[in-house]
Amino acid sequence: MEDDADRLYRIFQDLSAPLEQVKNSAAAVYRLIRDLSPLIEAHTSMVCPDCREVCCRNRHSYHDRSDQIYMSALGIRVNNSSPVADDAPCRFISQNGCMLERPERPFRCTWFFCEPLLEHMSGSMPPRVFRDFNNRLAEITSRRMDMLNSFELISTRIPRHVPGRD
Ligand code: SF4
Ligand code: SF4
Repeated sequence: MEDDADRLYRIFQDLSAPLEQVKNSAAAVYRLIRDLSPLIEAHTSMVCPDCREVCCRNRHSYHDRSDQIYMSALGIRVNNSSPVADDAPCRFISQNGCMLERPERPFRCTWFFCEPLLEHMSGSMPPRVFRDFNNRLAEITSRRMDMLNSFELISTRIPRHVPGRD
């Protein structure tokens, strides 16, 4: 049966032209996250291997509605069905960390920085680099929000098709 994620994916397939701007914005957000990823990984690779309380539980693995809009705009179909219990290790975790490309992870994963990780980042980056890092994170959030607002605005013209706008 078609769920909300499937319906959002189909909307982007069916209404490709009116949603072009949303798709372009999602692609820009993708690139921003991708480009920031090496900097984040330089620090997670130092801090996470010694972690005793790994944050990657399966309950964090689900793409919420905003993630579904973003992923659908990228032409990626989300699969939120999971046989794994919510408190078990995330279904996407492997020996080498998350199996999903960072821009395709639920946004909450991109945004989560535990205290030891943040301390490591702020303590080892020159202040200017750390400020730049925070600015880039803020830009990602702002561009993503613009993309979502754009979608919601356009979707007011197609309310019957859009989950959450029935
Ligand atoms: S981000 Fe923090 S809590 Fe998550 S695995 Fe790394 S060190 Fe552990
Ligand atoms: S970062 Fe990857 S492995 Fe960790 S919770 Fe998110 S999706 Fe799961």
